[in-house]
Amino acid sequence: MKSICCIAVFLASSCIFCYSQAGIIAHRGFWNKFGSAQNSLSSLENAINLGVYGSELDAYITKDGVVVLSHDNKYQGIEIETANYAELLPLRLPNGEPIPTLQQYIDRVKQQQQTKLILEIKPHTTVENENRAVTAIVQLVNDGGITELVDYISFSENICRELIKCNPKHRVAYLSGNKSPEELKKEGYWGLDYAINVLKKQHPEWIKEAKKLGLTVNVWTVNSPEDISYFISQEVDYITTDNPQLLKDVLESKAGAAQL
Ligand code: MG
Repeated sequence: MKSICCIAVFLASSCIFCYSQAGIIAHRGFWNKFGSAQNSLSSLENAINLGVYGSELDAYITKDGVVVLSHDNKYQGIEIETANYAELLPLRLPNGEPIPTLQQYIDRVKQQQQTKLILEIKPHTTVENENRAVTAIVQLVNDGGITELVDYISFSENICRELIKCNPKHRVAYLSGNKSPEELKKEGYWGLDYAINVLKKQHPEWIKEAKKLGLTVNVWTVNSPEDISYFISQEVDYITTDNPQLLKDVLESKAGAAQL
């Protein structure tokens, strides 16, 4: 009887492990919920509470060296790179929250060990500002003791190069979609993080090629149930979405079906 029980437990766990699960990344946090906003502290809190793999954010550095969250280089008419942080302080996100600093995000993330920051460093207008942003951000992450809780992403090749140069162990994924997995591997990247069209239409073969080379595969921004199912079936490592709750529900229902 005991051995039958052991076999049943083994089969059940085998089914779980033979079903691969994509990590959920909440795009600009889990903002798609009442009372929240993109790139806000509440969107990070929601992502942590949902228990997802990662909460993505967009980072710029101000003229006086404060790293803040914003998707665009201008917020309410103020260009972040040329403004001092004090000029951003009175501004409010659509839900009334102030613009968060990266330091505030780090302070929250270090209180737990599950949800990572998927830290996008935005292209800046000059190489100097990009390098200044990389140096400041890496310092904040290291000082915060959360290096294991940060994956870096960027559209800027310069930013990615600087991150890898500064520490080859940095997990850096490239966003622009114009480099093959072989090129990325040669340049020391950890992974690729490409748009739906690139991985579904232009270069679907890159998913398998990347995995063969030991690179991680992340895809953005996957919101419809059809695209979610497609990329789960392609066994990508991570899916970045504006609907993390929907993605979680789909993954749980597929995992449940796999166990039957
Ligand atoms: Mg982003």
